Amino acid sequence: MRIGAHQSISGGIYKSIERALHDGCEALQVFVRNASRWESKPLNEKDAEKFRQKAEDFGTENICAHASYLINLASASGDIYSKSLKACADELSRCGKLGIPYYVIHPGSFTGSTLEDGIRRIAVSLDRIYHENGFRTMTLLEITAGQGSSVGCSFEHMEEIINLASCSEKIGLCLDSCHMFSAGYDIVNDYDSVFDSLSEKFGDKIRVFHLNDAKKPLGSRVDRHAMIGKGEIGEEFFRKAVNESGFGHMLGILETPIGEGSTYASEVNLLKSYRI
Ligand SMILES: [Zn+2]
Repeated sequence: MRIGAHQSISGGIYKSIERALHDGCEALQVFVRNASRWESKPLNEKDAEKFRQKAEDFGTENICAHASYLINLASASGDIYSKSLKACADELSRCGKLGIPYYVIHPGSFTGSTLEDGIRRIAVSLDRIYHENGFRTMTLLEITAGQGSSVGCSFEHMEEIINLASCSEKIGLCLDSCHMFSAGYDIVNDYDSVFDSLSEKFGDKIRVFHLNDAKKPLGSRVDRHAMIGKGEIGEEFFRKAVNESGFGHMLGILETPIGEGSTYASEVNLLKSYRI
């Protein structure tokens, strides 16, 4: 597993790669635009060019993007749904221009309708986006902690979305240790059975693994990330994960709460120190 972190794009998206290198990252996750607004300035061409140059040295295949938090492809509200479709297509187009191969997105929330409707809407949205635009970047559905009416807190939801979508070859998965634990997957005591069944079901569709410890206990359905080894999951899981041969092709991305003004260097180092 390549070890890295989510890095800020402030000052220009290419700066995220400088930050990644500074922190000793082998993998990188970025937002491709402001993650908390619907509208965003177009991609700055000069910044994009610098990003592509730096990405070539870093390894483009080691970079993934994370969708903005507002996007909800499962939304039953017409307004939010159409804004979400537009924003998702815009972000995938930015990934294409930047050469980013993976785009991680939270499946969405079915508030006001049913889980089945939400699942169907996500599959239909992705089909529409890929058919209309022919994007090459793969969308990775991220497992969620199961707060509220979120889709994606069970791997069965992901299976259904993939089975319903005709663009299924463009859909993969992003794991998150904190979200899995919060959603009730006991990655501490049932490590083998959880990951054996995932690899049996999804194989190499799993491309990114968010490495976060959890502040809340197993099954809490609350999404609170903790520093590695300082939460309910504990160090042992991360020792196993970074050495797991089945995770060799994945990007391991830290999203731990390092605090404002701090860097991921020590968390990255800690994970690297677990390597045998
Ligand atoms: Zn996420």
